[in-house]
Amino acid sequence: MSAVVTGGASGIGLATAKLLADRGARVACLDLDPAAVPEPLLGITADISDDASVRAGIATVVRAHGGIDVLVNNAGIGALGTVETNPDDEWHRVLDVNVVGMVRVTRAALPHLRRSSYAAIVNTCSIAAWAGLPDRALYSASKGAVQSLTLAMAADHVGEGIRVNCVNPGTVDTPWVRRLLNSAGDPAAELAALQARQPTGRLVGPEEVAAAIAYLASPYSGATTGVVLGVDGGMYGLRPRSAPPPG
Ligand code: NAD
Repeated sequence: MSAVVTGGASGIGLATAKLLADRGARVACLDLDPAAVPEPLLGITADISDDASVRAGIATVVRAHGGIDVLVNNAGIGALGTVETNPDDEWHRVLDVNVVGMVRVTRAALPHLRRSSYAAIVNTCSIAAWAGLPDRALYSASKGAVQSLTLAMAADHVGEGIRVNCVNPGTVDTPWVRRLLNSAGDPAAELAALQARQPTGRLVGPEEVAAAIAYLASPYSGATTGVVLGVDGGMYGLRPRSAPPPG
């Protein structure tokens, strides 16, 4: 099995790439900076906002691994603010990476996925696609688009045996979230607020999201397509009276 993980040099992408490799896949990580990608993962420099870079990256994967069975569209960037905060160019930049980036990578990978007997695409979406979070207008809009795109892609490609699903993580303890916490006025209070927002009382682990992605990518999930799988500590569906203390 040959798998491609975008944003595979950090956080959820790196955890996913490692898990797929542990389970026997040959895994390529497409990232802006793949320098930290450990062996046996194959790090490939690619920018998902640049079509030529994506096509070159996918061609490198196919040369190295002989084909593509699994595509994990995971690379994404954040944005803070309400609709009054972000200028137009910021909207274009974030949508270009988070939404059109997935389109570019999928488009380049599809001819290869069509040749696989167990082709699967898993998109990393977010709790922000289906829960209104304050100060995340642009990011939420991008992930709402990813969720809809996932369903549309699943419908378009089900007839050719390519499954498409997405995961909706809650707040995950990755370098991205650590950067956000470090920039907060009171990082400890911000962490406590994020933990309390999830009914489990803790952040999601990147390896927990990786496990959900690997489940959806597996040939054993051959009957599962067009599914949005929450990995959010109960944040979307549950309304407990109080969260357990963190720890
Ligand atoms: P991260 O910042 O730790 O890792 C993201 C990786 O994507 C980085 O290695 C970065 O270099 C790469 N990347 C960014 N722009 C790229 C581009 N243009 N081309 C190629 N690679 C690029 O982030 P993470 O927390 O692991 O997030 C991964 C995905 O999970 C994102 O799509 C994010 O929206 C989503 N997500 C994260 C959380 C969370 O709480 N961390 C929650 C829900 C969804």
